[in-house]
Amino acid sequence: MSGSAGHNHGPEGMGGRERLRSLTEILTRGYDPKLSVGSARPAVFRSSTYVFSSPEAAERAFDLVSGRAKPNPGELPDLIYSRFNHPNAEILEDQLVPIESGAEAALVFNSGMAAIMTALMAYARPGQAIVYTVPIYGGTQHLIQDFLQPLGLRGVPAPAGESEAIARAIETTPEPAIVLIETPANPTIWMTDIAHAAAAARRREPRPMVMVDNTLLGPAFQHPLKAGADFCLYSATKYLSGFSDMIGGVVMAAEAARMQPIRAKRGLFGNILQPDECWILDGRLPTVGLRMTRASKNAQHIAERLAEHTAVEKVHYPTLFTDARQQKIYAAQCDYPGAMLSLELAGGKAAAFEFLRRLRIARNAVSLGGVETLACHPKTTTHSGFTEAEFRAAGVSDALVRLSVGIEDWRDLLADFEQALNAAREVALQPAGAQ
Ligand SMILES: *Cc1c(COP(=O)(O)O)cnc(C)c1O
Repeated sequence: MSGSAGHNHGPEGMGGRERLRSLTEILTRGYDPKLSVGSARPAVFRSSTYVFSSPEAAERAFDLVSGRAKPNPGELPDLIYSRFNHPNAEILEDQLVPIESGAEAALVFNSGMAAIMTALMAYARPGQAIVYTVPIYGGTQHLIQDFLQPLGLRGVPAPAGESEAIARAIETTPEPAIVLIETPANPTIWMTDIAHAAAAARRREPRPMVMVDNTLLGPAFQHPLKAGADFCLYSATKYLSGFSDMIGGVVMAAEAARMQPIRAKRGLFGNILQPDECWILDGRLPTVGLRMTRASKNAQHIAERLAEHTAVEKVHYPTLFTDARQQKIYAAQCDYPGAMLSLELAGGKAAAFEFLRRLRIARNAVSLGGVETLACHPKTTTHSGFTEAEFRAAGVSDALVRLSVGIEDWRDLLADFEQALNAAREVALQPAGAQ
């Protein structure tokens, strides 16, 4: 798309050459060193505007970006202005495509919320409905309930993990434009069957678009587009970037043509990811699979050990599921269990707070998906806006602590959690009123 900057990539990557396996594609497509004076890594193009090769090329570029004309096969229109696109976004988007099984196109945004908002507003209009699983990320719930609903878009919540109830909501809701699924649900790691919901969506005419927030297990361990979803949404702030040092978002599409309305809204809203941030994220992509695999192995060791600790009443983690339906969804839908887990401690909020206070390696912070281990108390932080009924429905109790396990040595992390749990148990055993 970027003729004048010359980063030679259309929808099919570098000149339509043969597609390689994804780990190779990430490192080889989308970037031509010749166009950055031979630099082995891309340069950062911070320009806000681009010089046209001719007035005719400028006219053509505007016809294409506005959607008045369709690009010819292989056509590389001039870049225009960096709110619409820029070389670092184009390089990054080309390199994101092979990361998501079944994706044809990617778009980058300046936060996960920007990606979600833009995808929803591109595909739902006033009078139409968005069927969404609950619990869902707090910002997403806020967006649907408190911003989109007053504009006339109906939000229809359906309980995460309840395949029949979700299918019924999709089949009976008038004018459903979007089905939005977040799986696994945070913080209890409940899973929703994507293929089942996508099949229900296909029974509607016109068919709602199925979007999956794949932040917690994607792109390495869960592949919604293969299960019939139309779009994957990401907070790139989490595993994709992986170092808790940037905010970003991504939308991936199973069909490139379906991305056009979202691309047009991004140009209008002005929420494309900035060049420097694109360059940072671009350098993180080749290690996403390595980081996630290591973190998942760590988390599995830790979850299975902590389940035996006397201060722990329950561990929420896929390999410890006891519900047969949840076990079935996990087996069918995920390659590995991932690095998020939650602990229910004996002794309620006092024990949970003592646990967090005593941690020496893991840090008490919200967010997830970084190489460093983080721990938080959802009820008083990430989920503190919930009503009592929502807390109960989402399984968010006073005693619940959420962990995002990183890539440290799992034996050191386990020892850290065990010493903090021993202190929490002391608090739990104190007679009431003794604190
Ligand atoms: C963090 C997160 C978001 C929001 O992403 P930001 O990058 O913070 O805007 C959305 N969904 C999920 C599941 C998240 O964890």
